[in-house]
Order: sequence, then C-alpha cells, then structure tokens
Amino acid sequence: MVAPARARRPGAERPGSEPEPDDIAGCPFCEGRESATPPETFALGPPGRPAYAPGWRVRVVPNKFPAFGPWSDEGDRTTGLFARRAARGRQEVVIHSPRHVRTLADLSVRELGWVAEAWQARALAAREQGFPYMQALVNEGAAAGASLRHSHSQLVWLAEEPPLVVQERLAQEAEGGCVLCRVLAEELEQRIRVVSERDGLVLLCPFAGRQPYELLVAPRKCESDPFTSEHLGSALVLVAEGLRRLHVAEGVIPINAWLHASGHWHLEVVPRLTILAGLELGSGYFVNTLAPESAAGVLRES
Ligand SMILES: [Zn+2]
Ligand SMILES: [Zn+2]
Ligand SMILES: [Zn+2]
Repeated sequence: MVAPARARRPGAERPGSEPEPDDIAGCPFCEGRESATPPETFALGPPGRPAYAPGWRVRVVPNKFPAFGPWSDEGDRTTGLFARRAARGRQEVVIHSPRHVRTLADLSVRELGWVAEAWQARALAAREQGFPYMQALVNEGAAAGASLRHSHSQLVWLAEEPPLVVQERLAQEAEGGCVLCRVLAEELEQRIRVVSERDGLVLLCPFAGRQPYELLVAPRKCESDPFTSEHLGSALVLVAEGLRRLHVAEGVIPINAWLHASGHWHLEVVPRLTILAGLELGSGYFVNTLAPESAAGVLRES
C-alpha cells in the first residue's frame, strides 16, 4: 500500500537518523588487526601471504556469533545452543576492504568485483561441503542490525533453501514462466521505475516495494546461479550505485540487502527509513510512504 500521508504522522521519525558511534580505534576488521578475528577461511591477496598477515584485499572469517550451527534438535547442554529444527548451517563474515569504509557505496568497482569473487568462492566451497544454498546479505547501520561499521557481508551456508526463497521459486513455477523476466521486460519498456542499467543488469524500484527507495538489481537475461555468473560483480556495482544515489537523496541511512538465488537471481535492497510495526509484521501488508515511481525519479536525478 502506498500512503504518502503516513510519513507526516506524529512520531514517524526515522530510525537510525542519529549519528552512530564509529569505533575505528577498536575495529577488528581493519588491516593490521587480523588477530582480532577468528582464523580466516579465505582471503584474496598476494600469493604466499600468511594468515593473520596484512596485505589482503578481501578476507573471510567465521562469524563469532552464529545463529546457525551444527547442533541438533536436542540442543547442546554445554553451550546452551538449541535449534527447533535441524537447521544446519554455518555463518561467515566477508570483510570488504582493508580500509575502514562504512558502506558498499564507498567501495571501488575493483573492490566490489573482489567481494563478488569471495562470495562465489565460498558458495562453491559450501556446496562441496554439503550446503547447497548460500544466503549472502549485507546489513548497514545499527538500525539494520549491523554491529560493526566497517563494510562487510555475511554468508549463511544452508542445508536447504530458506522459506522466502522457496516461496519465490514456487510463485515463479505457478506462473508457468519466469515472472522476473516478464517484469524486467515491462519495466524496461515503461522506464518509470528503472533507475540505471549496466553490463546487462538493471537497477529499479520494484512495483510493490515495501519501503521507500526499495531497490532490485537483476541480470536482464534469465540466469539461475549467481555464484557461477560473470555478472555478480556488476550487480554489486549497481547496488553500490543505488546506495550512492540514495545517500545523495536522503543521507546515509541503514539498509538491508540480500541475494536471492530463487530462479532468476537478483539482489534486493531495503532501506530502513520506517519502523516495521504491527500491520506489516501481523498482516504482511507493507505501507510504503513513497511511491516506487517517485523514488525512481528522485534516484535518477541524484
Ligand atoms: Zn575498520
Ligand atoms: Zn528470468
Ligand atoms: Zn527475492
């Protein structure tokens, strides 16, 4: 539902608009503090570089506080970790740069390419180890769930597709053809919600965006596997471009972004300009205070 007036209702201030503390001095992701993280599982850097040494371009380390793990339904009495179902998995953190950059928007095209390379390498390693689905995601800002400001992403190794991905895939199958292919063709013809294009990929504000400035990035050609695609780096470049435009329009705001490999792969970016409340959480109806076509217009100009 698009309801512009709601933005002006009393108390509708934004989450995360306060400047956030930024602890550069204690940042465990900066170059030179390699021993502050668990031992790295992967890195891009000069050949022969020892683990824990500086000189890397992208570094992957296990998540210190994973939600998914090898534990079973019974739980583990010593650690107190329980899972209701056998949601086996692993979680890794990809540190995007040795520099203390705070957002994907500040990474160069080359750096974004290296992030994509790390995602792809880890997804293929996960498959080899029995985790066929990789959920890659980026949280930026405390209001979006990020506990550290240094730009990073999370890779969740899953033994099965998560519920939303199953739902998207089933919806595609029910329509008897690729829904996203049809949507992209229509959007590129109308050009109302398209923000930008690059290397065979499209950046747009989706028709049913849940939040102001929600973004979608997808390859124009139907591709099902982002982890073997030559387009993943360009997709991250388009996400970064969308964020730079958003920052010009609205300032730096918290965002959640994730990659979906549910048929025609794509990245979704949800800026956290409003707080999700009982209506959204209880009904699944999202109230968007900015029409996606208006948002796209603002971002194209920014
Ligand atoms: Zn840092
Ligand atoms: Zn498609
Ligand atoms: Zn999706």
